[in-house]
Order: sequence, then structure tokens, then C-alpha cells
Amino acid sequence: METIRVKDLTVAYRGKIALKKVNVTLSPGKLTGIVGPNGAGKSTLMKGILELVPTQSGTILYGADKLKKQRKKIAYVEQRQDIDLSFPIDVFGVVLFGTYPHLKLFQRPGKKEKAFASDCLAKVGLSEFAERQISELSGGQLQRVFIARALAQQAEWILLDEPFAGIDATSEKIIIELLKELRDEGKSIVIVHHDLHKVTDYFDEVILLNKGLIASGPVNQTYTTKNMEKTYGSEITQMLQLGGVERAS
Ligand code: ADP
Ligand code: MG
Repeated sequence: METIRVKDLTVAYRGKIALKKVNVTLSPGKLTGIVGPNGAGKSTLMKGILELVPTQSGTILYGADKLKKQRKKIAYVEQRQDIDLSFPIDVFGVVLFGTYPHLKLFQRPGKKEKAFASDCLAKVGLSEFAERQISELSGGQLQRVFIARALAQQAEWILLDEPFAGIDATSEKIIIELLKELRDEGKSIVIVHHDLHKVTDYFDEVILLNKGLIASGPVNQTYTTKNMEKTYGSEITQMLQLGGVERAS
């Protein structure tokens, strides 16, 4: 289990800074939430870690290695609005795709890969949906299919961008229980989350962002009124006092 270290990450889009000099460590074996208001740079941080956006500065380390060299160990589920659902592929096909990074060039998935993909689909409880087109799934089922793909990839880290956006409470519960189970089995999970409810219930660690790092660490030390004010502005205090949001202290 390796730590991911982000050093001095700065990302700008067309000259406009979205994230400034972020230094943060992601602990393995934990469920970590990336929390902050709209436009805070949460998705940008995730993409920056994976080097999916051009960076102005920054080094991303996976243990002692450059993360790029260890990219296979990290699975990424992008925000749903960015996923092309018109692509004709069934659920099993998506999960089987997860096994590709481990195949050699021009090698096709065989019996072994197919059996493993089946196991991964069973793990998320969607075996009976194997032949369903991905365009015909609910939002919650779709997230579970991508989690199965991450398992098929044998990823050690699973990064999910707003997996709970636009899905019902029951599906959210199924997914968070699944992610907690994977964490307990040794996976490292990182979730972009913009809803302040459930933060203390869901996460072991939290990264508070607003165009830069506000604070990070264990939820009970980090998810404090003071840090929430720094992240969201002082209006948040009123919400906290009204009991709209649970908090650590
Ligand atoms: P969050 O995920 O926290 O809502 P983002 O990381 O998506 O925030 O965006 C951070 C900032 O960067 C926002 O101001 C957003 O408008 C801007 N931004 C994000 N992606 C792009 C892009 N591809 N081109 C230009 N600006 C972008
Ligand atoms: Mg986002």
C-alpha cells in the first residue's frame, strides 16, 4: 500500500488559476473525501493527480515513484456528465475493459479475464445486469459498474468524482457500504463530494479545498467549524448552528 503525495500542484485553465500550490498526502487504506464549494477545484485536483490536465507546476508521487509509472494501480471514475453513455457497450464489456491494462499488446481477454470480470460484477451485486446496455442503467447502477471495472483493473486506489450526484438515497447507501467494504479489504478510496451531509459518517480523512488547500487530515481533526468557514465563508456557521450539517467539533 503506497501513499500518494501531491507536491506544489498548480493548475490553470487558459491562464486562470483553478488550483494553487496544493501540497497534500493521500493515505492508503482510507476513505478520503475531497470537499469544497462548486468551482473549488475538486475535479481539477483529481485530474491533476492523474495528470489528465496540463499542470503549471507540481509533482505527483506514488510511494517513491512518479505516479505516471504506477498509473495502472489507480482507477478513475469521472463525473457522470463527462461520461459518454451513447457508446454502445454492455455492462460486462465495461467491466472486462478493466482487465486490459494487464493484457499485453494485441492480447485479447481470455477465459481467465472473463471469469475475473464476472467475479468483479458479482462483488458489486450486478451479475444479472451483465448484458444490459450501459445507457439503460440507473445512475447508482452505473457507479457500481465502474467500481466493478476498477476491481477488474486490480487497482489499489479508486478515485470517484461525485459518485452520489443525482442518485437516490437508497443507491447512495448501497454504494457507500460497498466502498467501505472495499476499504476494509485494503483498497484506498478517494471521493469528490460536495454535499456536506454525511461527511463525518462517510470519510476517514478529508481534504478541504477552495482554489487551494484549506486543510486536510483525519475527519475529527479537520472537519471543524473554523475550517468549514475558511472553505465556504462565514455563512456556513449559521447552517452548522441550525444543525443542517453534522461536524466533528
Ligand atoms: P469543482 O469540481 O470543485 O466544482 P473544477 O475543478 O471543475 O471545480 O473547476 C475549478 C475551476 O476551473 C472552475 O472555475 C471551472 O470553471 C474551471 N474549469 C474547470 N475545467 C475547465 C476547463 N476545461 N476549461 C476552463 N476552465 C475550467
Ligand atoms: Mg467537479
